[in-house]
Amino acid sequence: MGQRHDLRCSKCGYEIDAMLGIGMLYSPENIFTGQTPLLNELVDDQLTVKEALKRVKLGETIADDYGHALYACPKDFYLFEKFYFKVGSFEPKYHCQYCDTVLEQVTFAKGTAGTTKLKFIGQDKFWQCPRCGNDAMVETAFENWD
Ligand SMILES: [Zn+2]
Ligand SMILES: [Zn+2]
Repeated sequence: MGQRHDLRCSKCGYEIDAMLGIGMLYSPENIFTGQTPLLNELVDDQLTVKEALKRVKLGETIADDYGHALYACPKDFYLFEKFYFKVGSFEPKYHCQYCDTVLEQVTFAKGTAGTTKLKFIGQDKFWQCPRCGNDAMVETAFENWD
């Protein structure tokens, strides 16, 4: 089951409402095989979908950690919710809609009480608000979805 996160900058109010994780229908079969693979709805880039489905047909391995994930632009720090997956060695490359830089995944890191920080995965770098430079976010809502 996935979680819904409403994240808001504790200073200026910049926010993102993101669904993270996976829903009940998100089996590898539903997403990557059949006549209407769910991947078409989850990824808004035709070439990425084509490449992934081609690799699945060729028998490449689908990594089991797929799901909706939080991405940030490493340049201007705008946040996006995108579907992460990996087939063989192929991963989607999503681009920032403002500056076209390839987005990187961020994860929740510990903040002070009531707030959270976001950290770039695999890097020693924290996310900062694109509007005001603050690095603390308040999680204003949390619920499960399926
Ligand atoms: Zn801010
Ligand atoms: Zn950008």
